[in-house]
Amino acid sequence: MNSRTHQGTALVTGASSGIGAVYADRLARAGYDLILVARRAEKLRELARTITTRSGRSVETIAADLTDADDLARVEGVLRSDASITLLVNNAGVGATGPLLQSNVADMEQMIELNVNVLTRLAYAAAPAFVARGTGTIINIASIVALAPELLNGVYGGSKAYVLAFSQSLQHELADKGVRVQVVLPGATETDFWNVAGLPVSHLPPEIVMPVDALVDAALAGLAQGEIVTIPALAELDDWTTLENARKALSPQLSRSAPAPRYLDAGSMADD
Ligand code: NAP
Repeated sequence: MNSRTHQGTALVTGASSGIGAVYADRLARAGYDLILVARRAEKLRELARTITTRSGRSVETIAADLTDADDLARVEGVLRSDASITLLVNNAGVGATGPLLQSNVADMEQMIELNVNVLTRLAYAAAPAFVARGTGTIINIASIVALAPELLNGVYGGSKAYVLAFSQSLQHELADKGVRVQVVLPGATETDFWNVAGLPVSHLPPEIVMPVDALVDAALAGLAQGEIVTIPALAELDDWTTLENARKALSPQLSRSAPAPRYLDAGSMADD
C-alpha cells in the first residue's frame, strides 16, 4: 500500500496501541483519512497528532468503550452515516492465557462481548452501507488460535474461530456486491496484548514472536494480493489451501437423511 491518492476514510478499532496503531499509521501513509477508536482518549489524540503531522491526513478520534452499549451505538452510527468510510478494521480485542479451571467466567463473558459481539455489530453496521455504495472493505483481526484452540485459553480460541468463520461467510455473501472481506490470523505478536492477557511476551520463545510492524505490513500485502484469509507467519500458502480444500470437500457429506453406518451397527446406551 503506497498510494498517495485519497482512499476515503478508514475506521480502526483498538487503535490506541499495538496492531491497530500500526494499521492507523500504514493506512494514513496509503492515503486514508482515519477515525480511530479505543478507550484511552489521550493515547488516541497523541497518535492522531503524530499521524497528521507525518501524513497530512485528517484523523478523528472517538474515545469509546465498545463493550458499553451507548459507546458502541455511537460508533455504529458513524459507520452507518459517514459516507466517506470505505474501510473498517475490526481490530479491538482482548485475550487470555489461563485454562478454564483458572479463569473467571465473567472475564470470559467480557472477552466474548468484545471479540465476538462488538466485532459482529460493527460489521453489521458497515456492511449494508458498503453494499449500498457498491464498495468497501472489512478487515477482521482473528488469530492463529482460530486454527489451534489448544494453544491458549479456550474461550479466546473459540472467539477467534468465530471471527474466522464469520469472515469467510461474510466474504461468501458480500463478494458479488463489491464488498471485500479479509480476515487476518496473527501468531504471537509483540504488543501489550500479552501483558493484558497475563503472560508477558518476553516469556515466549523469540522465534515465534513477530514484530508488530512486520505483522501489519504482511497483512496489508495479503490484502493487496486479494487474500481472504491471511496468515502472516505461514511460509507455505499451499498448506492453508490444502486444509481449506479438505474442509470444503467435507461439506456435501455433512448432512444426510440417515446416520453414518458406524452409528447403526454399534449398540446404543439405550441397549444397556
Ligand atoms: P493491544 O496492544 O492490547 O491492543 C488492543 C486494543 O484494543 C487497544 O487499542 C485497546 O485500547 C483496544 N480495546 C481493548 N478493549 C477495548 C474496549 N472495551 N473498547 C474499545 N477498545 C478496546 O493488543 P494487539 O495485539 O494490538 O491486539 C489487537 C488484536 O489482535 C486483538 O483482536 C487480538 O486478539 C489480536 N491478536 C493479537 C495477537 C498478539 O500476539 N498480540 C495475536 C493474535 C491476534 P484501549 O485499552 O485504549 O481501549
